[in-house]
Amino acid sequence: MKCANCGAPIEANDEVCQYCGTRTAYGISMLEEHKRHEQEEQHRRELENLPKIKYVSEAFVIFVYVITLGYYAPYWYATRMKPLNDLDSGTKLPAWAAGIYALVCAGIIFSSEIGDSLGLSPEMSQEIFNYAFGITFTGSILLAFWVRRILQGYAAKFMERNIAVGSVASSAIMTVFFGPVYLQHSINKMIKMKLLAPQI
Ligand SMILES: [Zn+2]
Repeated sequence: MKCANCGAPIEANDEVCQYCGTRTAYGISMLEEHKRHEQEEQHRRELENLPKIKYVSEAFVIFVYVITLGYYAPYWYATRMKPLNDLDSGTKLPAWAAGIYALVCAGIIFSSEIGDSLGLSPEMSQEIFNYAFGITFTGSILLAFWVRRILQGYAAKFMERNIAVGSVASSAIMTVFFGPVYLQHSINKMIKMKLLAPQI
């Protein structure tokens, strides 16, 4: 092999020409590999510094939602509360809100037992059930919007607020009807946008 610049002979593992200092083809490929390695390292460091939150596929969330008859929702809020609050987005999901929500959800399951133990008639138990159901329905919508606000507030650290609102959990209708499924979808999207790191 010869140097492309001065024509001097080049050894196979020379990165630069010994005579004129011109980088050899081998030297160029080594430099590129070094740059690529450097970029990978930087990317890894960036991910390490991002807040971590669980990545769960939307299909899995829907599956668990169905087999638990919707009781995955209080679990989802309870387990996401800490990582969401750690995002420091300016909005916090208060423990009491998620707690009351989980309690009322449990109340639905045990409404007839609760009614029996209080000596209530089946009609009264049904009434308790209806109220509890109404509260969880309203509560789940409130919690979903709360989380949506946290995610959008966090995204607004990286982009303009109106862009964040338009690109993270942007649909209010989806937030109402699909709650945690839609929110998990939004979190997954933020992981893909490299705003969040997936928790292993
Ligand atoms: Zn040369």
